[in-house]
Amino acid sequence: MMLSNSFNKSAIGAGLPTAQSQPVYRVPSRTGLRVRATVADETAATQQQQEEERGREIRRSLNKTGRYVRTVKNDPDATKALDADGVGYSLTGLVAQMREEGNFWKQGDVTVKLAKAYGYCWGVERAVRMAYEARRAFPGRSIHVTNEIIHNPEVNRRLREMDVNIVKEDPQKGKDYSKIDNGDVVIFPAFGVGAPDMKYFRDKGVNIVDTTCPWVAKVWNSVDTYAKKKCTSIIHGKYSHEETVATASFAEDYLIIKDLNEAQYVCDYILKGGDREEFMKKFSKAVSKGFDPDVHLNRVGLANQTTMLKGETQAIGKMLERTMMEKFGPQNLQDHFMVMDTICDATQERQDALYEITDDPTIDMMLVVGGFNSSNTSHLQEIPHNKGLPAFWVDTADRIDMASNSIAHKLHYGELKVTENWLPEGPITIGVTSGASTPDRAVEEVLERVFRMKDPNFKGIQPRECAPPVLPTH
Ligand code: SF4
Repeated sequence: MMLSNSFNKSAIGAGLPTAQSQPVYRVPSRTGLRVRATVADETAATQQQQEEERGREIRRSLNKTGRYVRTVKNDPDATKALDADGVGYSLTGLVAQMREEGNFWKQGDVTVKLAKAYGYCWGVERAVRMAYEARRAFPGRSIHVTNEIIHNPEVNRRLREMDVNIVKEDPQKGKDYSKIDNGDVVIFPAFGVGAPDMKYFRDKGVNIVDTTCPWVAKVWNSVDTYAKKKCTSIIHGKYSHEETVATASFAEDYLIIKDLNEAQYVCDYILKGGDREEFMKKFSKAVSKGFDPDVHLNRVGLANQTTMLKGETQAIGKMLERTMMEKFGPQNLQDHFMVMDTICDATQERQDALYEITDDPTIDMMLVVGGFNSSNTSHLQEIPHNKGLPAFWVDTADRIDMASNSIAHKLHYGELKVTENWLPEGPITIGVTSGASTPDRAVEEVLERVFRMKDPNFKGIQPRECAPPVLPTH
């Protein structure tokens, strides 16, 4: 049987074995999954099967299983439980009350200014809510999350208390899904899962609750578009971050760059060529299988991990645009460079609010609250640090030792540091923000500990019913 031209070119490439030899070969797909086939099997059905193995087809096929949920029910019991457990938006506590006071609070010597945008983003609250709803919808069933649902220790502790198993990753062996049976419930976290995991759980026969943030899915759509247009996806992100791992699994050819320095290196290579071996060594963990910088950098499209610094993603986009214009001429730019707006508003708003609050000359120091493995929180810590403003990043109030006036805090480049005498005597104005995966309760506990340090007689904040936060409509 003859192969159709399109299959020949798109799936197999040059040097295709003849039908007579009927060899067995592996067809690479964008997901990294492999499909075995013989030339004699190259029927329409086989082509369809290969299509099914592509990331976008796997995503679509989940809908047809009848075991797939990706919407929020807004179950009022779940809302009550989120509030009671302190893993939703604050509705009665200090943060809720600050919201009603113009993001301002004064408690004795301590003045607190809360950034205009802070804390839980829409996608994260949605994910935690969906996990709570899943627990209620499947009582008695084993429920697993393929990873931490969001990067927050308290939220993950609460889920474990509800008998939700969070699958851990072994650095050597990867994830062990062997304890998940068909009939169990599997939750995909807010930053999504890659195509191979999606396929595995689709075929396993489990019930899937997919909390992937729609903004993350938007990035997946963009790399899918680039692949269809035979563009290499240049992903601004961290190659080991779960979201970027998932995004890469939906791309065909890709290169992951983490910052402007790496972008400059790539742009120099595009314009002047360079040492191919050095390039491959530098990006050995950050490229698609079979990537060749001399082949795959002629047509590129920019995508991003949604929590990267917006300004940096934009600067990388401009750099790539200029490079492609210089190499191929302005009139040919659209054939060689694509960009789609996929940076999440929540990340942008939190960063913009932090730039604004750190310009306030009355602020003596910043407190940044968020999980230590949260990428977006690390960027929030970076902004005051770069402005020379003292900034302490903590994940829980327990990092503050009241007796010794010391604080264990993380620096944005990863080091955990203990600072003694961090809270000065006398009046102080503290700016506060929190990462997109940080529930308001974490901020309240940190601030209440500060109030208590300044005033041993502090009795705590009396709860008061407040209006819920105004959320963006996505
Ligand atoms: S930070 Fe943005 S992309 Fe990430 S979960 Fe929140 S809303 Fe979604």
